[in-house]
Amino acid sequence: MFGLGGDSDPFEESVVPGEPFLEIEELQTYYDEGGFRGEPVRAVDGVDLTVAAGETVGVVGESGCGKTTLGRTIVGLESPSGGQILSRGVDVTSLSGSALRRWQRDVTMVFQDPGGSLDDRLTVGEIIREPLDTHDIGTPDERRRRVFQMLERVGLSDEHFYRYPHQFSGGQRQRIGIARALVVDPEFVILDEPVSALDVSVQARIINLLERLQDELGLAYLFIAHDLSVVRHISDRVAVMYLGGIVEQGATEAVFNSPSHPYTTALLSAVPGTHARGIEADGARITLPGTPPNPRDPPSGCPFTTRCPAKIRPSDTEVALPDDVWTGIDELRALLRERARRDGSVVGTVATRLGLLSDNAVAAAAEELFGGHDLPPSVDDVIDSVVDRAAAGRNAEAAEQLRDQFGSVCDEIHPDPASPATESRASVSDDSHTAACLRVQDNYDDTSTVIDRRYRTSRRAAQSTPDGTRED
Ligand code: SF4
Repeated sequence: MFGLGGDSDPFEESVVPGEPFLEIEELQTYYDEGGFRGEPVRAVDGVDLTVAAGETVGVVGESGCGKTTLGRTIVGLESPSGGQILSRGVDVTSLSGSALRRWQRDVTMVFQDPGGSLDDRLTVGEIIREPLDTHDIGTPDERRRRVFQMLERVGLSDEHFYRYPHQFSGGQRQRIGIARALVVDPEFVILDEPVSALDVSVQARIINLLERLQDELGLAYLFIAHDLSVVRHISDRVAVMYLGGIVEQGATEAVFNSPSHPYTTALLSAVPGTHARGIEADGARITLPGTPPNPRDPPSGCPFTTRCPAKIRPSDTEVALPDDVWTGIDELRALLRERARRDGSVVGTVATRLGLLSDNAVAAAAEELFGGHDLPPSVDDVIDSVVDRAAAGRNAEAAEQLRDQFGSVCDEIHPDPASPATESRASVSDDSHTAACLRVQDNYDDTSTVIDRRYRTSRRAAQSTPDGTRED
């Protein structure tokens, strides 16, 4: 029946179980290119990712990190700005017309909101049949039989054919969404937060259904989610996204047991019961300062440098500073960047002209961060100067001054993904485990060692006078 579709097939090679089905290279999806101040929103920025036939790859990261845009770009709902998406030797980003529609039969998508993604004016039968109509697959009678088959496959029954989506529970609506995604017999399904809107008990049933369907149909999944426990359960491999890029990827147990990127370590610290390296056994949660940078204006150097709890300290600073002073400097920089970003907005520009942003918030933050320390005069002078500039509404200049005085190699170099350099850092037998962090190189302490030391030190410092220890 499925050979009767009217779409032209650009793929000469067939899908081989275990072999790469999808090879993404340097993928970029930018929005609003040439928009405000000429800078695009870099929603997806240089993603490399491979998914094998029959494999599940989990994609995790905070809201706005680009994971949904990545999925939408793969399926052809967004146009890439650069890079390649290869499948069976064909760059699918170059497809159009009926060849693109053919690709959209091989790769389908299940959306987060099982209510909002289904058209309430159509019956369930019509909703599930619609992709068959779009791709001109089968005769009307064959399409109808196929829909009944799919209802049974996802745990619904024939009587549901004539009902409307609002007559179903959230879990049942997600089953309808899954039936619709699978009705064209795809090879690969992008699951965009498929269970996050559901109750926990319903989540488990939908996950079981997805696993059963994968076994029966040999499907590959890209499982996009922010719930790390669910991702760990279902995924063979995991990719961690931050600011449009993948900062760490590898076999699921390798990444969860032995995270090498500080962002992954911080994410995992929020999962109850996780005892990975770099996350203390007492369950201390690593709180990241500030918010992710504006994707129109990513930091130079490492994208995570403005929030990194393991940031490499400058080695050429004349004075030894305790850990919590370094942390305070990073936090003050994060605050100044936030304020500089606000200054750049239309509202911020007007407010600055009216003198409304010349407040004492930075002075108060500096007092809180450094007030208990007897800072060396050279450092004290810089902090005073930074506070004065911020009070005058010159936040970008103040942030730049901190960077000039206390910036590190992390502010200069955009790390490429690399495997941990030494055997002690290597994770659970996974050659493909990589992290985009300078700390995977053996000339720096690894992430787990540094986070453990800094968190221990900062807890000690909270209980007693700082001892002036310096590291790196
Ligand atoms: S390179 Fe590594 S240590 Fe440096 S800021 Fe980036 S993630 Fe942190």
